[in-house]
Amino acid sequence: MVRECHSSSYKLYDRALESLVGGVNSPVRAEPRPTPSFVDRGDGAELVDVDGNRYCDYIMGYGPLLFGHDLPEPVREGVSEAVADGPMYGVPTDVEVELAEFIIDHVESVERLRFVNSGTEATAAAARLARGYTGRDKIVVMQSGYHGGHESFLVDGNVDDRKPGSAGVPDAFAAETIPVPFNDEDVIRDVFERHGSEIAAVLTEPLLGNCGIVLPVEGYHETLRDLCDEHGSLLIFDEVITGFRVGGLQCAQGKYGIEPDLTTFAKIIGGGFPVGAIGGRAEIMQAFAPTGDVFESGTFNGHPVTMVAGLETLRFAREHDVYSHVNELGRQLRSGLQDLVEEHTPEYTVTGIDSMFKILFTRDAPDTMDGHCRAGCKQRPECPRFELCPKTGADVRAGETDRWKRTFWPALADRGVLLTPNQFESQFVSYAHTEDDIERTLDAYQEVLSTKVG
Ligand code: PLP
Repeated sequence: MVRECHSSSYKLYDRALESLVGGVNSPVRAEPRPTPSFVDRGDGAELVDVDGNRYCDYIMGYGPLLFGHDLPEPVREGVSEAVADGPMYGVPTDVEVELAEFIIDHVESVERLRFVNSGTEATAAAARLARGYTGRDKIVVMQSGYHGGHESFLVDGNVDDRKPGSAGVPDAFAAETIPVPFNDEDVIRDVFERHGSEIAAVLTEPLLGNCGIVLPVEGYHETLRDLCDEHGSLLIFDEVITGFRVGGLQCAQGKYGIEPDLTTFAKIIGGGFPVGAIGGRAEIMQAFAPTGDVFESGTFNGHPVTMVAGLETLRFAREHDVYSHVNELGRQLRSGLQDLVEEHTPEYTVTGIDSMFKILFTRDAPDTMDGHCRAGCKQRPECPRFELCPKTGADVRAGETDRWKRTFWPALADRGVLLTPNQFESQFVSYAHTEDDIERTLDAYQEVLSTKVG
């Protein structure tokens, strides 16, 4: 498993710098520097780089690869047949109906769907739909939540001081997006008191999956649901990461027992191919063209290869022990990490749920709690130290985050454990991982945590 030589990767990296911006096609792949690992292929739970080094992979394509790198036979066959039939048509196919029916059958809140090509497209279209349906412009989002790279949600700051989160985003977009701290009931109540009649929607991931992993405190989703109902706003769950992962086929909304008005999906529902979807109550969804006047369209929407990959993926997950396997390995990994952290770095937190895990380089919630547990927060069984976990994105960012970039990530990679180069992204266990993989992974973490080499 140990990484030894990287000369082919470095050569490719130098070449890439001459043709791709920063040598990559997505900035999260570029940190920490230098990260010249170019992949040759996947193999089960492992990635093999162009120099032949093998890594136990916990990036898993940033979430879509529920089964690891080898597609189950029905997925592979379905994809091959769809490609052989002609890759796409721009005319409806039966498989997009079947995938929509599958999702509707399993996710209580979804009655109609529109398939698009990425999570970013899904949240952009959901925002337009919510604005078109309600006739209001403002959308509340969670600080340090992520909903893709588009103008509506690339916004930083707080309720009273909102600013574009990227060069190129006009101030006008920031004016319509209100960032609030996740899990903070007081702030969201105050926002609704002041802006309730202007708020089209609250958009949140059911748990923050792009900032460490921050789980919801008991009652927070219910508060959002109630406030939206009271003020005629829509509740949108962004289940791009959690959809068909957390809570299995019922998704995170099923696990937490909340019915949003709209849901955005992506990642797993495309079985490893580009996908996104907006789903929700029929009455709202009908506001999309052609039945309504909210425009949304796409050459590749409902792409037949993606649709068959997604459908066969979800069917396979329903018919095999996929969720029990990944969730049990996730539990074992979190529990093992918990022991290591307790022994070597008690100032850190192990967090996660089902097949997601992460170590946060802090245990505190310094911005709001002076290091103490927020009142009303109850321990969730999935997270052994939930009562002490950071509760907001700011809490996570206030940790010893530079250690990750400096040494932690490379030290684990050197030991054959591949995590996301960006420290705030989640790690995923796949159906291809085994108990042996978990043991080897824990050994690598032990070395890194105990010696502080990372
Ligand atoms: N929403 C969430 C919660 C995400 O995690 C992501 C990406 O990771 C997106 C939206 C954007 O999805 P995509 O990268 O497919 O555009």
